Amino acid sequence: KKFPNFSIVQREPALDNALRPKSLSEFIGQEKIKERLALIINAAKKREEAIDHILFVGPPGVGKTTLALIIAEEQNTQIKMISAPSIQKSGDLIALLTGIEEKGVIFIDEIHRLSPSLEEILYSALEDGSISIVAGKGPGGKVLSLKLPPFTLIGATTRPALLSTPLRDRFGFIATLDFYTHEEMVKIIERSQKILGLNLSYESIYEVAKRSRGVPRIANRILKRIKDYVDLRDNKNIDLTETKKVLELIGIDENGLDELDRKILFTLKDKFSGGPVGLKTLAAVLNESPETIESIYEPYLLRIGFIQRTSRGRVITPLGLAHIMRYYHDQ
Ligand code: ATP
Repeated sequence: KKFPNFSIVQREPALDNALRPKSLSEFIGQEKIKERLALIINAAKKREEAIDHILFVGPPGVGKTTLALIIAEEQNTQIKMISAPSIQKSGDLIALLTGIEEKGVIFIDEIHRLSPSLEEILYSALEDGSISIVAGKGPGGKVLSLKLPPFTLIGATTRPALLSTPLRDRFGFIATLDFYTHEEMVKIIERSQKILGLNLSYESIYEVAKRSRGVPRIANRILKRIKDYVDLRDNKNIDLTETKKVLELIGIDENGLDELDRKILFTLKDKFSGGPVGLKTLAAVLNESPETIESIYEPYLLRIGFIQRTSRGRVITPLGLAHIMRYYHDQ
């Protein structure tokens, strides 16, 4: 049976926006990075210059976009946000670069996915503050150099090694965002639940933190589902038993694994006798892209010791095996 879900889809962006920290002081954790950013922002403000180009490296959902928005906010300037795969032609990138206001911020998500020719345009924009445009074709064609206003490029990537070295070197600050500690996750969840008008017991907050794998976006997603549950009644308090019920309903288990994580473990165990198996083969069997498996799912499974990466491919560990057996036994 299909339920119309447009109301959820419609209210998500507003909620997401409300949950985003709006200043460095509201942003929890990543202390060293915040300190350096404050220094860079304040120095640029004092000199009345554009902020230096910044590259944020880190797994999805740990705050790269949020920090870019905060930087633009602190600089009180325009921000244009785009994801690299959606820039198709050089004209798109040139329009983006020439259309920015002075000291404005251009945020390019997944910047490692820019094609080499686009990377080159970007590189020259950062290197000389100008871009070359070829006007006209054939012998009559001319190369025009276009001066750009001073601007700040903020790139975000999960795979910094895929960026060309010259482009990587043009960033004044490369900030590597890490997963959050349990204590930081607790603070983030406390803040988010207040914004959502919830009242989770301390044990519930602890449980959500435990199952969010150190990623604020996952914690927020869980809280939004708890809100759906609570919105259907008058009482906004929620205890551990109910929290566990919601977590079970959305398929997030005790170790913070979701459906696809378990499918990866299960596939390794059942289809490949525990491995080793190559990433591409595994991705094909799971009907997912190798990049999704490698950048979104694997890091966590590796981190908690459920899989291992060997020279011959991925293998499930005894820990991973025990988890999957227990999970399906309990179901
Ligand atoms: P992606 O690259 O996948 O877009 P991201 O790293 O840019 O991910 P964000 O979109 O910035 O992640 O963060 C996801 C959500 O998590 C945001 O809506 C924000 O509310 C929350 N969040 C991230 N970091 C923090 C933090 N340090 N404190 C509080 N909330 C945070």
